[in-house]
Formats: sequence, C-alpha cells, structure tokens
Amino acid sequence: MRLPCVILSLVAALGVFAEEPADAVRALSAQLADDDAGKRDAAEAALLKLGAPARPAIEAARDAEKDPEAKARLVRVLESFDKPLWLASLAEGTKAAEVLGRPLMVIFDPVPERWANPLATDPRASESSGRKLKNAIDENVPVRSWLSGHFATAYLSAEPDIPVLEFPQAEGTGGAIVLFISPKLGVRHLLRGWWSAERFRKEGERALEFLAADETKLADVRAVARKEIAKELAANPHPPIGGRHSPEACSEVACILPRLLQCYDTGDTVLGKTGDEALKILHGER
Ligand SMILES: [Zn+2]
Repeated sequence: MRLPCVILSLVAALGVFAEEPADAVRALSAQLADDDAGKRDAAEAALLKLGAPARPAIEAARDAEKDPEAKARLVRVLESFDKPLWLASLAEGTKAAEVLGRPLMVIFDPVPERWANPLATDPRASESSGRKLKNAIDENVPVRSWLSGHFATAYLSAEPDIPVLEFPQAEGTGGAIVLFISPKLGVRHLLRGWWSAERFRKEGERALEFLAADETKLADVRAVARKEIAKELAANPHPPIGGRHSPEACSEVACILPRLLQCYDTGDTVLGKTGDEALKILHGER
C-alpha cells in the first residue's frame, strides 16, 4: 500500500515548509517589540517579504503576541497577503516597494478623503473616482490578491483644505491618477479616472510588462499594447445610439478604449519620472 508513504512524505514536506518560516517569524516577531522604532519597522518589512508561505507561522505569532503594537503589526502583515496594503504617502509606498523588491502602484485621488456630497441619496454616487477604483479592487478577491502579490500599493488623497474641481469620473477620464512606478526606472504606465477591476487588472498586467522591459524596448512594448487595444476597439463597434449620447455614462467597450488610448498618450509624457514629478506634471503642486 503506497498511501501511508505518500502521507508521510507530505507530512515531511509540510514540516520542512512550516518550520523554516516559523524560526524566522519567531525572531522577527520578537523584534517587533524592540525599543528602536527602526528595528520594529525593519522586522515588519522582513515579515512582509516572507510573504504568504509564512502565513500559518505569522498567525500563530499573532495569537501568542501580548504587546499591542507588535500584535497590530502582525495583523497588518497578515492583511497585506490578500488585500493591498494602501500606504498613505509616496515615500512610504516607495520604501515598501524597495523592501519587497516590487514595483509600486499608486492611486492619487484629487478629492480629499473627507469630501462627500451630503445631498447624494446613494453614498456611492458621492465617491470620487479614486475611491471608486480602490473599492472596486478591494471588493474583487482575484484582482486584489493579484495586486497585493505583485505590487506595493499606495492611495494618496489630496490635501483636505485645497479646493479641487472633480472631473468626469467615467473610465479613463479626469479624476484619479494611477501610476505604475519602478523605484529605479520611474513611471512605466498611467491610467486616469475610474476603471472596472477587470480592466484595471488587464492594464496592471501590461504595466508589469512595461516594468520588465529593457529601457530601449519600452516604446516598442507599449506600441504592441496600443495595437492590441486598437484591435479590440475595431472588433467592438459602438451600437447605434438614440438621442443624446453621454460617454461618461456609457459602458460600451467602444467608449472605454479610446480613453484608454488617451491614457497611453498621457502616460508617454511622464515615463521615467518619479511619482512626485509625475503628479506635479499631471495635477500641479500638491
Ligand atoms: Zn458610448
């Protein structure tokens, strides 16, 4: 009978798998209560870097942890494994990207976090395009796990006291600015406005190609993506419309893709810039 043998080797394999992260997690968890804040930060970053395979060991450490700050950090690390960790500044996002050895994806919301329309009957209607996009990602399990596994993520809201004009919020226009940034090479892709989680993921996967592309090949790789989008557009003509047509309210692919192509044109103007430089160009002084 071969089964016990299979089970034994499985148990052995799991044992090895579980033991190594457990040792590292024990040492790092102890460091989470260090007097030195820098050491606490470094330990949290190292736990993040261990990634999802260390989840059982980190859950055990969380359950055993007595120190409130250390426990909160362990909870935050666990949350980041299946939900993007939305850091609140470019500096924090860039630091996380460097520590994790991943690119950074930033949503810049030109509308202050506290902004809301008190007259809106549907709370969703008062959401800015940046928050709509963030919510669409957070509510879509495959997309949010994919995102948290490939990028460090940040969500920046405009300063609360600076008056801002919200632009139309349809896919690809005005509103939120999404940047895909390599800490070393700068911006490699840009999206504007709100996108469905699925369309966002598709462009996020293209962004990974742009991020991996050799500096001299970037324009070619982006040109290939443009051609694919143009082809999709040609295959999905807009159905006839009666009356007045509002592109902002339209979900037709033929309405969305021209805006996506515009994003590529806008993106070309900030390629290679740092996140700060790009936001200054696209949104003015923050
Ligand atoms: Zn339309």
